[in-house]
Amino acid sequence: MKPEIKELVHHYIDGQFVTGHKGDLFVNVNPFTNEKINTVSEGTIEDINRAAAAAKKAFKQGPWGKMKQEKRLQYIYKVADLIDRDVEEIALLESYDTGLPIAQTRKMVGRAADNFRFYAEMVKNRMSGEAYHVDDEFMNYTIQKPVGVAGLITPWNAPFMLETWKIAPALATGNTVILKPAEWSPLTANKLAELVDEAGLPAGVFNIVHGFGETAGASLVAHEDVQLISFTGETKTGSEIMRNGAASLKRFSMELGGKSPIIVFDDCDFERALDACVWGIFSFNGERCTANSRLFIQESIKDEFVTRLKERVDNIIVGDPSDPDTEVGPLIHTEHYENVKRYLQIAKDEGAEVYSQPISETHKKGNFVAPTLLLNVKNDMTVAQEEIFGPVLSVMTFKDEEEVIDYANDIKYGLAGYVWTNDMKKGLRVANAVEAGMLWVNSQNVRDLRIPFGGSKNSGIGREGGHYAFEFYTEMKVVHVALADHHIQQFGKKKQSLQTEAKH
Ligand code: NAD
Repeated sequence: MKPEIKELVHHYIDGQFVTGHKGDLFVNVNPFTNEKINTVSEGTIEDINRAAAAAKKAFKQGPWGKMKQEKRLQYIYKVADLIDRDVEEIALLESYDTGLPIAQTRKMVGRAADNFRFYAEMVKNRMSGEAYHVDDEFMNYTIQKPVGVAGLITPWNAPFMLETWKIAPALATGNTVILKPAEWSPLTANKLAELVDEAGLPAGVFNIVHGFGETAGASLVAHEDVQLISFTGETKTGSEIMRNGAASLKRFSMELGGKSPIIVFDDCDFERALDACVWGIFSFNGERCTANSRLFIQESIKDEFVTRLKERVDNIIVGDPSDPDTEVGPLIHTEHYENVKRYLQIAKDEGAEVYSQPISETHKKGNFVAPTLLLNVKNDMTVAQEEIFGPVLSVMTFKDEEEVIDYANDIKYGLAGYVWTNDMKKGLRVANAVEAGMLWVNSQNVRDLRIPFGGSKNSGIGREGGHYAFEFYTEMKVVHVALADHHIQQFGKKKQSLQTEAKH
């Protein structure tokens, strides 16, 4: 199934679809066939300058900055309604562009509309502050103001969901936005620009500059008129961005890489733990920041668990991402495919056993990596320490609780963790001890929009989601008001009175 696709993807700047300043284009490729989908405008510093000028104007002079909250939020609800209307088309575009199975993009895209509604509601409920009455002399109160121009930089692994998760709170709180989507997945970002345009948001409020990180992305980060950067992507890119944004003192939110442990004790609900483990690593083609890519299985159930894992891996449906039955599709890009393959070779070189089903001849044109188990892995191996970001599970064993906590924490990442046991006291102890921003006990990666999302250690700085996004996209201002004529020191009057005193 092929969606309808425009031959050219343009930037969206100041309410217009425009070509780039230099007119350069890059080719967007389908991961299932590795054939060209279409061409995309390649953003330059001049395009970022144009977008920043439009966003600044819309914030400072345009109607957006001065608009009544209720009216602003009507636009946000309108975007949500348009996403709902076009869910099927967006899901198809996303699947076609990224190789994610259509059954999974349908679910994800559905949640994107919720992002807009959720943050519109949150702004209604949280545009409030604190107030203090001080000794009948003062009233101090806080108000939340939008920060200004928000620069949003996103990855390709769940593009529409991750973009809207940033755009919705940024716009709902009254900022203007420049989005730099990932170069490997421009289609749904472009579709979003079309929906925003249709919703009639004032020109300059929402802008997209396509292109590469080192040029368009870096120019956005360095721009003086962009007050904040919300970034999701690799850890090393995050640290590069923080370096580049230091000169203009950016406010940063960093959602970075992960290598999350799933700890399976022998007293767990075996079948549910197995389901969660398989889904957690192989859904979204394994290209998922919170994937449970390190399995720690208690020694006493290792043989049975691994046998059952192999059975599952043999039977996962790998294939055309547009087929609703497909469970694992091709990886996003040949470059990423080569990188994942490189890790499989490293695994062999380090002494691990690589177990996977063969890829069918009919799929040889696509970037397919079969769901893979790495057996006999030790925690200090490269494949246990580095993020592979593909359908690859490193399997390790442990003796007891103390040992597994040490293993789980002996890594630079700290995004997520999963614990399976029917001993709740133990489950909560482990959840408490594992160094990660998010822990799931007897549960796979399910979450509620009200709950903050983010990692510790090298997996991130700050939190997205819930009211944390509201804090990030607003600036708190304190207003001090005098309630009475309190004492004010009178500098410059003392000399006069001293002179008068001296005369007498
Ligand atoms: P990436 O870091 O290569 O790219 C992400 C974005 O940053 C892209 O838009 C890219 O063009 C841009 N970029 C690259 N270099 C830049 C620079 N110097 N300045 C400004 N922008 C630059 O990441 P990716 O490969 O697209 O995504 C995969 C990574 O994202 C994985 O590490 C994954 O764990 C992480 N991720 C994290 C979360 C989370 O919430 N923690 C969610 C999804 C993905």
